[in-house]
Amino acid sequence: MFDVINPATEEVVGSVSMATAEEADAAIARAAKAFPAWRAVAPGDRARLLRRFADLVDADRENLALLEVMNSGHTIGNARWEAGNVRDVLHYFAASPERLTGRQIPVAGGLDVTFAEPLGVVGVIVPWNFPMPIAAWGFAPALAAGNTVVVKPAELTPLTALRLAELAREAGIPDDVLQVVPGRGTVVGQRFVDNPAVRKVVFTGSTEVGKKIMAGCAAQVKRVTLELGGKNANIVFADADVERAAAAAPYGVFDNAGQDCCARSRVLVQRSVYDRFMELLEPAVRGFVVGDPAAEATEMGPLISDSHRAKVRSYLPDGAPIAFQGHAPDGPGFWFPPTVVTPAGARDPLAVDEIFGPVVAVLPFTDEAEAIAMANDTDYGLAASIWTRDVGRALRVARAVEAGNLSVNSHSSVRYWTPFGGVKQSGLGRELGPDALAAFTEVKNVFIDTEG
Ligand code: NAD
Repeated sequence: MFDVINPATEEVVGSVSMATAEEADAAIARAAKAFPAWRAVAPGDRARLLRRFADLVDADRENLALLEVMNSGHTIGNARWEAGNVRDVLHYFAASPERLTGRQIPVAGGLDVTFAEPLGVVGVIVPWNFPMPIAAWGFAPALAAGNTVVVKPAELTPLTALRLAELAREAGIPDDVLQVVPGRGTVVGQRFVDNPAVRKVVFTGSTEVGKKIMAGCAAQVKRVTLELGGKNANIVFADADVERAAAAAPYGVFDNAGQDCCARSRVLVQRSVYDRFMELLEPAVRGFVVGDPAAEATEMGPLISDSHRAKVRSYLPDGAPIAFQGHAPDGPGFWFPPTVVTPAGARDPLAVDEIFGPVVAVLPFTDEAEAIAMANDTDYGLAASIWTRDVGRALRVARAVEAGNLSVNSHSSVRYWTPFGGVKQSGLGRELGPDALAAFTEVKNVFIDTEG
């Protein structure tokens, strides 16, 4: 059994049994057995089941949100958005079973057609930072394409995934088509990699574990989608609306207490407006509302665990270049204040490592070329923001920055109908949007001789 802890209070709020490797294999075997019947469900009926699932998620939205507040310390506003995102992702992909068309390609002497075939069993491995959306980004398109799915939530945050599995059953999605199997990564997650009945692994998590998953999957040429870490640049040019950029910067990085792969944790500011930017940033950071995640006005909750807080804290030893900090509650809970640092150089670990907490590094740059070079001076490539009033510059820099998700005069990276994913060591493949189905199907080509 694994005790589930409320990170805002340190209270045990439940306990969940961790599956063994044998139990994981049994779940995978059930999913494999359920596959032929699920892929044979008429497209319109599969769509209807997914829409019903979406409707039940919508009806349960407040309950799901409160579960996430309790299990993950997410603010209630974020948690409601996350539950709504699951609903929207289900609705979006519910529109695809009837549209999963192949092509007819001209050939001599016959007819050539392609089919988008489902893969079989898909294993979805979920991290603790966004338990609901990340599970849904995997299972919704996978189910829509006719695959069966086994989800492994993160050890620390299994509660909402378990509830989603109940709602799927209530919606009439057949048993074993969507299963949630809580367990350790090295046990259950590893079975997704090693068990040949799993035909695809969707992994979201750290780059370190993602590399192991990819290497493990290579043994069977198993398909993988990887959504990994990020050290995302927020580039503020002197020609930007500096007031707006400074007001938005804390939300770009401190949302979800910085435990966001898209957190804009490196702010690169053009030298001529650097002092002005810092002057504006300070009150915005000091005023950031950190506290009880269930309170409507709260903007940031606690970190996920004591050990994660210790890791974040290790980046700020005595003498660390802290420019200013916001506030955090005392007492129980894994609290950490929003923190702004000014590292001496771009190679300082504060400017290089994904800290995955509410710590943002601010660095000056001189011109556009230097900004691009600094933004790209990282092994990661998930997201970046560009603040400028010059449209040409916005497009030039957006094309030059090596990242999968760019935003201009905004930090918004995620919409369920637009593609999401990383380049370089931030990942492989794209989730969401119109292309996601391709990651859960294989193209089969069939030639029919009409001359014989
Ligand atoms: P993690 O890599 O430690 O764990 C992620 C998941 O993998 C968990 O479910 C864990 O149990 C499982 N796991 C661990 N070892 C495994 C193994 N050997 N085999 C199979 N599964 C294994 O990551 P985390 O600490 O839970 O999450 C934080 C990380 O996730 C950050 O690096 C963050 O940037 C990344 N992330 C990326 C995205 C994205 O979309 N790019 C989104 C969210 C989080």
